[in-house]
Amino acid sequence: MGAYADFHRRSIEDREAFWAEEAQRIHWHRPFDSVLDFRRPPFAKWFVGGEINLCFNAIDRHLAARGDQPALVYISSETDTQRSYSYRELHREVNVMAAVIAAQGVGRGDRVLLYMPMIPEAVFAMLACARLGAIHSVVFGGFAAASCASRIDDAKPKLLVTADAGLRGGRAIHYKPLVDEALRLAQHPPQKVLIVDRGIDTTMQRIPGRDVDYATEAEKHAGAQVPVVWLEASEPSYILYTSGTTGKPKGVQRDTGGYAVALASSMQHLYAGKPGETMFTTSDVGWVVGHSYIVYGPLIHGMTTILYEGLPIRPDAGIWWKIVQEHKVTVMFSSPTAARVLKKQDPAWLKKYDLSSLRHLFLAGEPLDEPTHRWLHDAIGKPVIDHYWQTETGWPILSLAPGIEPATVKYGSPGFPVYGYDLKLLREADASEAAAGEKGVLTIAPPLPPGCMSTVWGDDGRFVSTYFRTFPKLQLYSTFDWGVRDADGYTFILGRTDDVINVAGHRIGTREIEEAVQAHPNIAEVAVVGVADAVKGQMPLAFAVVKDASTLQDTAGIERTEREVMAAVDRNLGAIARPRRVLFVTLLPKTRSGKLLRRSLQALAEGRDPGDLTTIEDPAALEQISNVLRT
Ligand code: AMP
Repeated sequence: MGAYADFHRRSIEDREAFWAEEAQRIHWHRPFDSVLDFRRPPFAKWFVGGEINLCFNAIDRHLAARGDQPALVYISSETDTQRSYSYRELHREVNVMAAVIAAQGVGRGDRVLLYMPMIPEAVFAMLACARLGAIHSVVFGGFAAASCASRIDDAKPKLLVTADAGLRGGRAIHYKPLVDEALRLAQHPPQKVLIVDRGIDTTMQRIPGRDVDYATEAEKHAGAQVPVVWLEASEPSYILYTSGTTGKPKGVQRDTGGYAVALASSMQHLYAGKPGETMFTTSDVGWVVGHSYIVYGPLIHGMTTILYEGLPIRPDAGIWWKIVQEHKVTVMFSSPTAARVLKKQDPAWLKKYDLSSLRHLFLAGEPLDEPTHRWLHDAIGKPVIDHYWQTETGWPILSLAPGIEPATVKYGSPGFPVYGYDLKLLREADASEAAAGEKGVLTIAPPLPPGCMSTVWGDDGRFVSTYFRTFPKLQLYSTFDWGVRDADGYTFILGRTDDVINVAGHRIGTREIEEAVQAHPNIAEVAVVGVADAVKGQMPLAFAVVKDASTLQDTAGIERTEREVMAAVDRNLGAIARPRRVLFVTLLPKTRSGKLLRRSLQALAEGRDPGDLTTIEDPAALEQISNVLRT
């Protein structure tokens, strides 16, 4: 048996001893009394009784040995700025931010919603919340006001932190009006809004008594020293909302102790990074990858982390590789969509810079197709490691572990079960184990390892009924992904088992998009499916039935309605969820019991066979769909 297989086996068979050892990688203010409390399955509490602080582990702990080492390097190709913060400087900035946040009445257990572009203050604010024992909830800057409002109502934050604007491809996206609108829509708006004014939106309006200017407050609190608040290991560190099959996003609640241990451990064993080296993760702080591997993971491990604001191809397609060369990046983490974007550029960009520092490039967030995997591997001449995980888990489920044994990449596969995960590939019908080569549902036998979600924020029942419903008798966690294992034990991911789609690595529930489409007053009914897209992996496609057909009498009317529906999605959910097309029909394909035949719709949209149609109510519906797809 190989070194990694041994390592994995021990993590399952000797679970508590294994994690007790891994827990030594971080600083405990008070040691834990027990490694695992699993008396109330499927809820797992890790490192019970231990006291810890994420900010202390990410910054303070390194001050003695790494005070002058860069901790955070901010590079913006949007504003052509580069700023580096040593651990000591980061400590200073985070203390000031913590003092400002505390002055707004925020303390232990209070929620703070962050709606931020990729600027250093976003990182300061996350770490400052952690320092205060407050719970941050970062909402991705691409979400619309209504999405932001529903997250506000669920998290009920005391404070919202934002900036005047974000930038994308040279275009300013004004955040403040969006935040104002979200607060208008919300039932539980926070009392205060803290604004980082970047000077991009010179027309920004402030609401007296509610809006607080960060620069002014920071000046008042210059030199502040804010003591860390030690949390019991299972107290929440953050909430991050993610999509599922219902229209209402779920607040993934993360603990503190288990998360710190899982991240520290993964930095060593999976990412094979060394303290003092540089990690470059190209995600956004609004996603789980940003939380774990832009902010907390690399800092807990004493590495330098790069915060990049901009596109991968601006000013040119060499920008990321230039960063690798200049900052001697050893570990890089990006997404398959970014890889597919780069693949369309002149290959010379990949040869222009010295990539010798780079050991591995990790990709995650969506399926990585074999040709792109092979291409990137050849183009950079380094192992490209596809690894698979979810917002819920906070760190990888399937990966190779070059920190333990050299990576043998198989194109198109994210590798093996990560240590700590007791993964099972089960037949959907009877929960028996799928044979090699046979498709099954990827499930995790609880306890979920440290770092994984502890519950759905404010709704334990939803945690159980959502994730443990696929095989309720066995109480297994479902990833809602299909997988298949080959004879060598490599797992391949075959797509979701539910109605969730993945657009450029962003997970969106088709139900959420349908609700956004239905906000248009003329839409009677709609079905949204994900269809394959050469760059983004998948794109939403909407089939809609209108109430008043007279609006669709000529091409101009059809085009206008389509544009209006797209605008409704932009407004209610965010442009990332905008359907590629909205196609109008008079009938949607349903079963006799009224269930939408989504799989058939999707198959037709992708030019495949629609499958079993014996239960269809009216076959004319499919004929119509085929016709509109043809035209
Ligand atoms: P999110 O929580 O937004 O990161 O989305 C998680 C989902 O993205 C998973 O359930 C998978 O469907 C998909 N996913 C993430 N990483 C991979 C990967 N390496 N290969 C295939 N699918 C992936």
